[in-house]
Amino acid sequence: QVETLKAKLLEQAQEISRLRSELGGTDAEKHRDLLAAENERLRQEMKACEGELRELQRQQQQAPCRDCPHLQENARLQEQLSQLQREAEETRAKLVELDLEVQQKTNRLAEVELRLKDSLAERAEEEERLSRRLRDSQETIASLKSQPQQIKYIIKTVEVESAKAKQALCETQSQNQYLLEQVGMQKQVLKEMEQQLQSSQKTEAQLRAQIMMYEAELERAHGQMLEEMQAMEEEKNRAIEEAFSRAQVEMKAVHENLAGVRTNLLTLQPALRTLTHDYNSLKRQVRDFPLLLQETLRSARAEISQAIEEVHSTNRELLRKYRRELQLRKKCHNELVRLKGNIRVFGRVRPITKEDGEGPEAANAVTFDADDDAVLHLLHKGKQVSFELDKVFPPQASQEEVGATIHTVGVRWGGNHLLLTLLCLPQVFQEVQALVTSCIDGYNVCIFAYGQTGAGKTYTMEGTAANPGINQRALQLLFSEVRGKAADWDYTITVSAAEIYNEALRDLLGKEPQEKLEIKLCPDGSGQLYVPGLTEFRVQSVEDINKVFEFGHIKRVTECTNLNEHSSRSHALLIVTVRGLDRSTGLRTTGKLNLVDLAGSERVGRSGAEGSRLREAQHINKSLSALGDVIYALRSRQGHVPFRNSKLTYLLQDSLSGDSKTLMMVQVSPAEKNTSETLCSLKFAERVRSVELGPVSRKAELGSWTSQEHLEVLKTPLGDSPGSTAPPGRAHTSPSPGQLSSRSASIRRKLHTSG
Ligand code: ADP
Ligand code: MG
Repeated sequence: QVETLKAKLLEQAQEISRLRSELGGTDAEKHRDLLAAENERLRQEMKACEGELRELQRQQQQAPCRDCPHLQENARLQEQLSQLQREAEETRAKLVELDLEVQQKTNRLAEVELRLKDSLAERAEEEERLSRRLRDSQETIASLKSQPQQIKYIIKTVEVESAKAKQALCETQSQNQYLLEQVGMQKQVLKEMEQQLQSSQKTEAQLRAQIMMYEAELERAHGQMLEEMQAMEEEKNRAIEEAFSRAQVEMKAVHENLAGVRTNLLTLQPALRTLTHDYNSLKRQVRDFPLLLQETLRSARAEISQAIEEVHSTNRELLRKYRRELQLRKKCHNELVRLKGNIRVFGRVRPITKEDGEGPEAANAVTFDADDDAVLHLLHKGKQVSFELDKVFPPQASQEEVGATIHTVGVRWGGNHLLLTLLCLPQVFQEVQALVTSCIDGYNVCIFAYGQTGAGKTYTMEGTAANPGINQRALQLLFSEVRGKAADWDYTITVSAAEIYNEALRDLLGKEPQEKLEIKLCPDGSGQLYVPGLTEFRVQSVEDINKVFEFGHIKRVTECTNLNEHSSRSHALLIVTVRGLDRSTGLRTTGKLNLVDLAGSERVGRSGAEGSRLREAQHINKSLSALGDVIYALRSRQGHVPFRNSKLTYLLQDSLSGDSKTLMMVQVSPAEKNTSETLCSLKFAERVRSVELGPVSRKAELGSWTSQEHLEVLKTPLGDSPGSTAPPGRAHTSPSPGQLSSRSASIRRKLHTSG
C-alpha cells in the first residue's frame, strides 16, 4: 500500500510539474519577467539618451558661442535632466526593490502551493487507503457472514477490529478536518498573497506611470534641449557670419594698410640702404676700436709716465731747492742772531698791582715811546731818565703776546728771495722761538729773568696755570718743533731742576734736596762741565714737564717755610737738554735750554742787614755781579771770561760761551716807590746790552763796564749813577755803541713795516 501511495505521489508531482511547465509559471512570475524586460528596455533607452546628451554636450563645448545666453539655459536644463535622471535612478532602485519583493513573495507562494499539494496528496492517499481498508473490511465481513462460526469469531474480531477501524477513521477524520483547516488557512494565506501581489502590481503600475511621466519629462527636456541647441546653432552661425563679415572688413583695412606699408617700404629702402651702410662702417669702427683704444692707451700711458717722470724730477729739484733754502734759512737765522748779537736784553714792566698800595707811592713812574718799542722813560726824583734796550714790553703786554709764535714769511730783500723769520709783533716769545730753534739745532741757550723781588720774574718765567710763562711756552714749542722734525731726527729731551742758594747748588728733583752738589769737569778731557748726582727726567710731552714742575715745586714748598721769601733769595734753574740724532747722516747734536729765575736784585747791604740776611745779600750780589761780568766779557769778546766767580756762571759756562745764545729779561716795577730799584735794574740792563756786537763794537773798548763797576751799579747811591747824568736814551758814555744800537733799531723797524 505504501508503495502504491508513493508511486501515486510521484505521479502527482510529475503531473504538477508538467502542468506548471504548461502554464509557464505563475502570473506573478510572468509579471516579473515582463517588468524585467520593460526595465531592460528603459535602461537601453536611458543609455541612448545619455549618449545623445553627451554628444550634445560635446557639440555644445565645440560650439563657438561660449558666452551665448543659451548656455545658462542649457546648464539649467542639464541640471533638470540630471535631476530627472537621479529621480529615474531612484525609481529604478525602488523598482528593483519591488522586483525583489515580488520574487520573494512568488517563492513563498510556490512553497505554500507545494506544501498544499503535498498535504492534499497525503490526504487523498490516506482517504484512498482508508476506503480501501473499509472495502476490504466490508468484504471480509460479508465473507465472514457466510461462515457463521468463523463469522461469529470474525465478527467479533471484526467488531473488535471495526471499533479499532472506527477509531482510526475518527482519527483520520479529525486529521482530515485539521488538514482541511490547514488548507483553508493556506488558502487564506494565498489570498493574502494574491492581495499583496495585487498591491505590488498596483505599485508597479504607479511606478510605471511615474517612469512614463519622467520619460515624458525627459522627452520634453530633450526636446527643449534640442530646440536650444538649434537656437544656439543658429546663434553660432549668425556670430560666425558676423565675425566673418567683420574679418572681411578688417582684412580689407589690413590690405589697405599693407598697401600703404608697401609704399612706405619702397620709400624706406633707400634710407635702409644708407643705414646699412652706416651700420657696416660703424661695425668696422667697433672692430677697429680696441686697437685704436690700445694705441691711445699706450700713448696716454707713455704721456702719463712721462708726466710722472717730469713731476718726479720736478719734485726732486724742489726737494733739492727746499733743502738748499732750509740751509739758507738756517744760515740767515744764525746770521740774524749774530747780527742782533748772541746776547739780547729785554725789559718788561709789570702793571701796578694791589700790593703796590695806594697814593703817590703807587703812582706810575714808567712811560714808553710810542714810536720806538725799545725805549722806556723813568721818572725818578722829578727827572726823566730814558733807556734803550733791545725791546721793551709795557704792562699791558700779555703773556700770550709775550709768548706769541713766530711768523715765517717770504720777503724779497736785496734782490735775493730769502725766507726770513720775521719778528712781527713786539713780543718776547718771538725771541724765545728763535732760541728754542737754536737749541734744537744744537746750540746752548740761557734765558734769565732779572729784577728786584716782586718785579714779575717768576710771572714771566713760570706764569700761572691759566696763563703760563716762557718756561711752559718754550717747552711746548720745543715739543712741537721736535715733532715736526720727527721724520728725520730722533730726539731725547731730559729736564733737571736746580737751585743756587748762598752759593750752594741743590737738586730740586733729587731724593735728597739738602745735598750740596758740585760742578765738575768731565773726566773725558773734553773740558765740559757736569754735575754728578743731578737728577735728569726724560720727558716726552708737556704733561710730563708739568709733572716734573709740580714735583719740583712740592720739593721747594716742603723744604721751605716761606717759599716766596726763599725763592726771591735763590736762583731757580730749569735745565732742558735736547739730544738729537739725524737718522740719515748719523749726525748727533746736543742743545741745552737753561731757564733761570734769578734771585731778587734789590740792594740790601745798604740798609745795614745782618747775619743770614746779609750773607744771602752778599751771595746774591756776588753771583749777579759775576753774571754781569761774564756777559760783559762775552759781549766784548774778551779773552778771559770770569765764569768761575760764581756757582751760577760756572754752572752755565758752556751755555754762555761760544755760539751760545742768551736772553736777559729785565723785570721792573712801575711804582713810584720802586723807582730806585727800577733805575738800578734798567742801568744793569742797558749796560749789559750796550756792549754791542759786530766788527766795530767787538774791538770797542767799553771801559765804563767792569765787574767791579757792576757791583758799583748795585751799590752806588742812585744819584751818582752815570746813567742818571747821561742824556735821555743813553745810559752809558760811549757814543759808538749808541749809534750802532740806534741803527739796529731802525733796521728792526724797517723789518716791522715790511713784515
Ligand atoms: P718776582 O718773581 O720778581 O718776585 P712775581 O713774578 O712773583 O715777582 O710777581 C709779583 C706779583 O706781580 C705777582 O703777584 C704777579 O702775579 C704780579 N705780576 C708780575 N708781572 C705781571 C704782569 N705782567 N701782569 C700781571 N701781573 C703781574
Ligand atoms: Mg720770584
